[in-house]
Amino acid sequence: MKRNLLLTPGPTQIPPELCAALGKPIIHHRTPQFQQALKDAITGLKYVYQTTNDIYILAGSGTAGMEAAVCNLLSAGDKAITVEAGKFGERWTELCKAYGADPQVIEVEWGKAVQAEQIKDALKKQPETKAVFITLNETSTAVLTDVKAIGAVVRETNAVLVVDAVSGLGVVDLQTDNWHADVVVAASHKGFMLPPGVAFVSASPKAIKQINASTSPRYYFDLRKAKKVVDKPDTPFTPAIGIIVALVDSVKFFQEKGLENIFHHYARLAEGVRAAARGLGLSIFTDESCLSNVLTAINIPGEIDGTKIVKLMRDTYGISVAGGQAQLKGKIIRIAHMGALDEFDLLTGICCLEKVLKVSGYSFKLGAGVSAAQEIYNK
Ligand SMILES: *Cc1c(COP(=O)(O)O)cnc(C)c1O
Repeated sequence: MKRNLLLTPGPTQIPPELCAALGKPIIHHRTPQFQQALKDAITGLKYVYQTTNDIYILAGSGTAGMEAAVCNLLSAGDKAITVEAGKFGERWTELCKAYGADPQVIEVEWGKAVQAEQIKDALKKQPETKAVFITLNETSTAVLTDVKAIGAVVRETNAVLVVDAVSGLGVVDLQTDNWHADVVVAASHKGFMLPPGVAFVSASPKAIKQINASTSPRYYFDLRKAKKVVDKPDTPFTPAIGIIVALVDSVKFFQEKGLENIFHHYARLAEGVRAAARGLGLSIFTDESCLSNVLTAINIPGEIDGTKIVKLMRDTYGISVAGGQAQLKGKIIRIAHMGALDEFDLLTGICCLEKVLKVSGYSFKLGAGVSAAQEIYNK
């Protein structure tokens, strides 16, 4: 059987313990047994989120959580602020428009991060703004956003701060309460190392007020329904039972290891991958000021097609990395260092990248990437 190594920013590599938990026989959801699982899952999620706010668990991928945030917070005609610094920021704009809201778009050059000052200016220009939508880790560009600085700006206004933390939560620091992130969206198949199928949405008291006031049409994702039963805890509809049962073990892993140690682990993996890229004479796409430890975006020299690199690594060697999206298609590759991975997984990925670059005609000294990463991992 071929290797199946996921160095992708979702879905991520699932550790054997969680694979085993996912194989448990299904239990019924209206039982004390499931209620206990749900309780433990929510308690653990609050630890990872660093929050005392409500967290609602929805069936769906990450975008389901994003849609829930928009349709519950905004009504048609409401003003919002979105940031287009990559593919996922654009999704906030599209969702706002789908519900008839009116987003003021802050455009940011891909590879750079929006600055708190820009959000401040946009809020000044549009004081009636109901919500500011940002992305913790912009997965298309490997940019990390300064949520703390933006939170300090937005909290002074009537707007709520909504953070797409789908790829970043549990991988890099996000202090939901301390940084005043009113609504934070995450999903099972990224930092939580589970299959796709479940989204999480947290809501602060400020957000809940707005959720109750929204007149947008909603049914399945109506967070008022989720709010009514969250303290039991219960869910309004059949939850994704199997994933939630495994989530109990996932969040236990975070609680036992400690967030600080986990962030440090990913930071180290990231440093090694960046060193490997430089060792190979390749530059990093993302601006030095906003590098993310979730994944690394590497520029592929003009004469080589990045899409082919990704395809070769996957189809010939069973190692999945991501290519570039939209205008970056073929120009970058993205190596994720999130999920159940250690340094040897990344060394394997780097080694494979070297092999594939070599056959693609790129000239460098074999082992230069692996050796640069090893230097970091052996520190
Ligand atoms: C993966 C991801 C999402 C959600 O995408 P789905 O395909 O719906 O799971 C949202 N935002 C970011 C930043 C992501 O990386």
